This record gives sequence, structure tokens and C-alpha cells, in this order.
Amino acid sequence: MILYKTEEDIELIRQSALILSKAHGEIARLIKPGITTLQLDKVAEEFIRDNGGKPSFKNYNGFPYSLCISVNSVVVHGMPSNYALNEGDIISVDCGVYKNGFHSDCAYTHAVGEVSPEVQKLLTVTKESLYLALEKAVAGNRLGDVSFAVQEYAEKNNFTVVRELVGHGIGRNLHEAPEVPNYGRRGQGIKLQNGLVIAVEPMVNLGSRHIVQEDDGWTIRTKDNKPSAHFEHTIVVRKDKAEILTTFDYIEEAIKRS
Ligand code: MG
Ligand code: MG
Repeated sequence: MILYKTEEDIELIRQSALILSKAHGEIARLIKPGITTLQLDKVAEEFIRDNGGKPSFKNYNGFPYSLCISVNSVVVHGMPSNYALNEGDIISVDCGVYKNGFHSDCAYTHAVGEVSPEVQKLLTVTKESLYLALEKAVAGNRLGDVSFAVQEYAEKNNFTVVRELVGHGIGRNLHEAPEVPNYGRRGQGIKLQNGLVIAVEPMVNLGSRHIVQEDDGWTIRTKDNKPSAHFEHTIVVRKDKAEILTTFDYIEEAIKRS
């Protein structure tokens, strides 16, 4: 069942999303060769708690951390560890915040220093695919219009989209109906309505679309071990234009300053 949000609900999600976006900015400032992914996790948790929120992922189905950190060929759900970042890595930072009874969810894939041109293109195309999808997230369109936008753009650029993992509705629960796949057909699926809050999150691979899960029960990696990128916003469907509740502005300011 889809739980459409009231304007009061959306205001609370907006507050949660602001803390989340700022937490992403704090993390972005620290991303450089030598820092461990566990250090990033600690900073994120502290920032979220200092701002009156709770990390949505911590203890979610037993996940022990505040961030999912997915390096290079890890698609999503990577665990923070003592791994120290290297020049040329890409690192997806996925984070959620719970505040005032509502969750928000946002992910960004960073380049650590210089990356190869093809990997840089993977990052750029994945981020662009997210915004193209959000252009379709308006009332009256179908969910398939959003999904198709990601797939069409990624595949046009000779990348592939992961099919087993999807975006989702979000609200009082981190994951709610509907599922938001990154592939699909135009004109198919539910009709989008004002007040639908969803997390849209393209996962795009440089090589084949296939994935494997590691023995830790969480980490999802590309089967061919080639890099994968992931960007995510929490948004609300509106009449003329989706309202994007999370923002990459804090991240991109931090990158510019570094
Ligand atoms: Mg996420
Ligand atoms: Mg999500």
C-alpha cells in the first residue's frame, strides 16, 4: 500500500533531509587518500546525532553502521572498514537520517583524486540519469517513465543498470511501497500523484549489469569486478516539477573548496 504524505509530513521529511544533506557535506570534506571508511562512518554518525537525528541504517535489519560505503566494484551496501582510500578509487556514500518520525535517504559517488576518463564518465552519466529521471517524477506520469529515463540514458552511454536493487517509497519507514526500478517501460506502472515521496537511486555499471552478494550478507559487488556508481535523492512528486528534498549542494561546495 502506498502511503501518500501530507504537507505536514513532507515538512518533517524536509528537515530530516537537510540534516542528511549537511552530513554528506561533512563527509565529502574528508574524502581523500588515506582516510578509512570507518572514520567516515564515525563522523557521519556523530554529525547526525549532534543535529538531533538518528542514522537510519544503523541496526536496520542488523546492519551495524550509519553509512553504506561502496568502493569501486561494490555497487551498494558495502560496510565501513579499516580500508584506507586510494587515489583513483570511487566511493559511494549512502546515508539515511531519521528525525521527527520520518526517514530521508541520499547517496553520492565520489572520485578520490584523479580517476580514469571512463570512470569519470560513469560518475557523470549516473548523476545525470538521476536528474533526467526526476524530470519525469511529476503527477500524471507513470512510474515507468521515471525508470525508463535512467535505463535509456545509461544504456545510450554504453553502461548498464542493476536490476536486482531498486529505489523505494520512503516515510515513517525507510523502505515503503512502491519499488522504483532503474529500468522499465514508458507509460507502465502506477500513476504518480502529488504527495508521493520516493527515493530514486540509479545504480549504473561500467561493465555488465550482473551482481553478486558477498559472504558478509550485505556487500553487493559487480560480477565482473568493474566499477559501479550510485546516486540517490529523496523527492516528492508534485504537479509540474518534482521537489528534491535532499541536495548535493553541501557535497559540491566541499569538493570545490578542497
Ligand atoms: Mg540510500
Ligand atoms: Mg534508498
